[in-house]
Amino acid sequence: MVYLNGDFIAKNKASISVMDRGFLFGDGVYEVIPVYNGKIFRLTEHLDRLQNSLDSIQITNPYSHDEWHNILTKLSGFSSESDQSLYLQITRGVDSQRKHNFDTLTPTVYIESNPLIAKTKSQLEAGFSALTREDIRWHRCDIKSTSLLANILYAQEAKQHQVEEMILSRNNKITEGATSNVFILKGNALFTHPTGPNILSGITRDLVISSAKACNLDIQEIPFSLNDIHQADGLWISSSTREIMPITLLDDQPINQGSIHPAWSCVYEQYQLLKND
Ligand code: PLP
Repeated sequence: MVYLNGDFIAKNKASISVMDRGFLFGDGVYEVIPVYNGKIFRLTEHLDRLQNSLDSIQITNPYSHDEWHNILTKLSGFSSESDQSLYLQITRGVDSQRKHNFDTLTPTVYIESNPLIAKTKSQLEAGFSALTREDIRWHRCDIKSTSLLANILYAQEAKQHQVEEMILSRNNKITEGATSNVFILKGNALFTHPTGPNILSGITRDLVISSAKACNLDIQEIPFSLNDIHQADGLWISSSTREIMPITLLDDQPINQGSIHPAWSCVYEQYQLLKND
């Protein structure tokens, strides 16, 4: 079952017009919202970020907070899974002709739910690998846009090299991963790129920061270099679906001799508490 423009219908019955600007231009925004134990996780934070994305591209939010809550709750209720990932996408809508500029249209709203299978602590403790690449994306990475060509190319390269993530740098500063935020540890200090146009402000990023504070880490929201990341005592990536994932191999070189920084376990446990509160 999926949601499309007011209807809950079978996925194979859902279709949109070829004149939808989401299809023609990737003219739309999206969100990915976890559901844990049947409860939507951090809905307000996700809807605030959605509002920011919509405002940035001049689409009027079609629903109020309560309407979103009701639609998402109803859709997640069709699934028997207690943990789900809700994907929602809003495009500018169906145009009468293909043109780059736009008039006010009725937005297209599509939502689907997929099972969310989080990695276990011991699976995460095995460590993961990543590669660094130049950040070729545009300068509005704070908008969660469906125009994801650069991210798609990174994901394909990651698949070809059998690594978990591509970690991106702009002017020798690490921005974020192709689908995640990036953290490094230097001693007791946890560094991550500040929010702004060069990164997506991850909901998990904020939760990692609050979890890390509870573990008495010193949070530094300042950019760090390619050299810093290679010399780090710990390297983590975060996202709603990956949670907090340790990277132990970067560009085929071990981070911290391949062992996970001891603070990871504390931050992981704090994060699990947030998931269940
Ligand atoms: N940065 C990028 C580019 C992403 O695509 C994502 C998630 O998809 C994130 C960061 C992490 O965001 P969140 O923690 O809200 O999932």
